[in-house]
Parts: sequence; C-alpha cells; structure tokens
Amino acid sequence: MVEYLLEPRYLSFDLELSLGNGRLSRYLKTGNSEALESYIEEGLKLGNRLADARATYSIAENSQDLIENYGFPEPLHEAKLLVFGISTIGEVLEKKVDALMEEGNYTLSNILDSIGSAAVDETTDRLGEEVMNYARENELNTTRAFQPGSGASHWKVNNHKVIFEHLHPEELEVNLTSSFTLTPKKSTSFAIGLAGDIEQVKDLFSCVGCERTDCPYRHIPEKTTAGGQRRGVTK
Ligand code: SF4
Repeated sequence: MVEYLLEPRYLSFDLELSLGNGRLSRYLKTGNSEALESYIEEGLKLGNRLADARATYSIAENSQDLIENYGFPEPLHEAKLLVFGISTIGEVLEKKVDALMEEGNYTLSNILDSIGSAAVDETTDRLGEEVMNYARENELNTTRAFQPGSGASHWKVNNHKVIFEHLHPEELEVNLTSSFTLTPKKSTSFAIGLAGDIEQVKDLFSCVGCERTDCPYRHIPEKTTAGGQRRGVTK
C-alpha cells in the first residue's frame, strides 16, 4: 500500500503543435521540406486533432527499500520525496499511422508518427512544468527526470514497474507489457527526486549523459524548462 504525499492527479492538455515548436524539429528531419510541405500541413492537422494528451503524477516519500529494490540512479538517493509520472497521447494517432501505412501513404504515415513523438514529448514537458510548479511552491529542488530504459538515465527498463506501482495507469489506459514496454507506444514514464537541499537541475528532460552522440533524436535544451508556468487542466 503506497503512502502518498500527493495522491495521483490527472491532467489533460490541448496541444498546438506547429512547425515553430522546438519539439517537432527534433523528429521532423525534412531535408527538402518544400516537397513535403503539404504532407506536414496535413500531418499537423491530424496530429493536433488525434493526439489525446493526458498525464498523471503522484508524490511519495523516498526510502532505502525503494532505492535498493529498484536500483535508483544515484541522484535519486539524496531525494526526500519522489515524483512518479506517466504521460501519453493515447492510441488514436498511432492507429491512424498504421492505417496510412496500410493504404500505402508512407510519407504521411511517417510524418504523423514523428508528430506523435513530438506530441508525447510536449505532453511530458507540460507535466514537468506541473512538477516544477509544485517544487517551487513547496521550496523544493528537483533532480532531472529519470526514464527507465532511456540512454540518458542509466536506469534499467524493468523499473517502469516502480512508477506504475505508484500511480493508477489504468485511468490513463496506459499499460506495461511483460517485456516492460508501454502501450500505447506514444507514452512515457519517469521519476524525479525532490528535496530542499539538492542542487536544482537545469533541465528536467535532456539527453545529456547518453552515449549515443550520433542519435538523430538527441535533445539537449539550450535553456532551463524550469520557468514554465503553463498549467494543465485537472480532470
Ligand atoms: S540521445 Fe537518443 S538514445 Fe540517447 S537518450 Fe537521447 S533520444 Fe534516447
């Protein structure tokens, strides 16, 4: 039985993805964007309509048992509290990607898939802003976000389990398979440490520390995301 400091909260967001959105340029690598302009336009319309951006988070006390049982990355050892979070854009966009592929519309399918990846990143950023607001209001600092299986987190993928155990993911219709992948695919989970006496991290989400320096999706923000004030809509 989890003893929460903050019971799971549920958020939903209206995403307005556009070409000016930094998250999109991470995934849409269009060498000849003029030729693809109409596909991107249609992809954005579909993406903004079909992405069902939702998230949940909770806060609980950290403990030696958790640290040892789930092999927490070192920065989490110092945390007094832990934030557990899951974000998703649901499965409708993913189904449309598959349907377009089956129809032979490979270009639009690939573009929509990339837009879906940007959409779940944007959703996760918005959730991160909620966490930052909570931290500021309670005079706490945060570690970075640790995502099981991510190259930057150095935290084994099976540790999605501890995050799921501290939330009610069924409310978001997000599942963890026996091989520790999340469904729908455009979903992600993380843990963030909170304490008054830890150094505030500059960016919650970043690829810093990942050895795959040639990864096409590498993302290292230029400035902190900590100042964001956008609010989700609490269900
Ligand atoms: S560089 Fe690529 S593989 Fe590494 S954490 Fe970033 S997205 Fe993942």
